[in-house]
Amino acid sequence: SPRVFSGVQPTGNLHLGNYLGAIGRFAALQSTHDCIYCVVDLHAITQARSVWGGPEGLRESTRSVTAAYLAAGIDPVKNIIFNQSQVEAHSELAWVFNCIARMGWLNRMTQFKEKAGKDRENASTGLFAYPNLMAADILVYKATHVPVGEDQKQHLELARDIAGKFNNDFADEIAGQGFGEAYFPLPEPLIQGEAARVMSLKDGSKKMSKSDPSDLSRINLTDDADAIAQKIRRARTDPEPLPSEVKGLEGRAEADNLVGIYAALAGISREAVIAEFGGAQFSTFKPALADLAVQKLAPIAGEMRRLTADPGHIDQVLVDGADRARAIAEPVMDGVKDIIGFIRKR
Ligand code: ATP
Ligand code: MG
Repeated sequence: SPRVFSGVQPTGNLHLGNYLGAIGRFAALQSTHDCIYCVVDLHAITQARSVWGGPEGLRESTRSVTAAYLAAGIDPVKNIIFNQSQVEAHSELAWVFNCIARMGWLNRMTQFKEKAGKDRENASTGLFAYPNLMAADILVYKATHVPVGEDQKQHLELARDIAGKFNNDFADEIAGQGFGEAYFPLPEPLIQGEAARVMSLKDGSKKMSKSDPSDLSRINLTDDADAIAQKIRRARTDPEPLPSEVKGLEGRAEADNLVGIYAALAGISREAVIAEFGGAQFSTFKPALADLAVQKLAPIAGEMRRLTADPGHIDQVLVDGADRARAIAEPVMDGVKDIIGFIRKR
């Protein structure tokens, strides 16, 4: 049966890209799929301590991502919400995948190149192996569908390659132990919508990111109305008015980004936005966009504030979710151990 898995790192301020590309779409899947949503704290520590904020920052961000899941309408009883480090099987399967994935595969990952920057010798080995842990996150639940933003497409392809190589390398053992033709499904990315890749407000060639040092580059889910309006007003654009056809957005990354954000927030297509604002100056379009963003984000921010005021409740959601996640992951991991030949208690 189809199972959805996805995760968000507790690395600081959640932003509009996280919401439109990921979290906002998670809730929509709960009526049709069995969904597991994780706060991937083991991934967060692959980056510098200053990025994830040390122990206090990590706890605060973990609760904040959980609150965002709940505020977006994800039901923690029908679905599973938990933080990754509570379910040991993620790390165990990641080690196995470290031994399945090839150096050459990981060397091609653009996220590593971007995050490691020029000082690659000084990047953590965890940052390099990040996609193996991500493959483990998904496959330890035999998840079939993974809603993510565009930036995670390459990692999803790697997860499929890892699943395929494991199935292939151990084909005889998998069949011999009655698991059939394949132990792991090849997970499908679900990358959809007008804002699958929200760009930085300061640079139309870079995606909006939690870890971007410039706060003006992103709209945080917790920004107030004034901050949202100011950031949109100061967002970089070219001097031309909006085109009269969507085609005219080609080669205009910043304009295209703002139109895409409007479309996603309003739940309409880029075509419909251009039908309304084609020919308009940014001095007209930007305030309309700011109003819409405030209208859509303010209730989420309010709910997140209400939820994070009771950290005990949030932590209990994570503990309960982890217990249910473990019950699915452990038998999958036991199967992996038997297939590889690791002796274990029966
Ligand atoms: P970091 O800079 O620490 O990597 P991030 O902003 O990239 O933070 P992640 O926790 O890595 O956030 O990603 C969580 C989810 O949000 C993923 O599904 C990712 O694809 C999606 N996402 C992140 N940035 C964007 C964006 N700019 N537009 C659309 N989706 C995004
Ligand atoms: Mg990221």
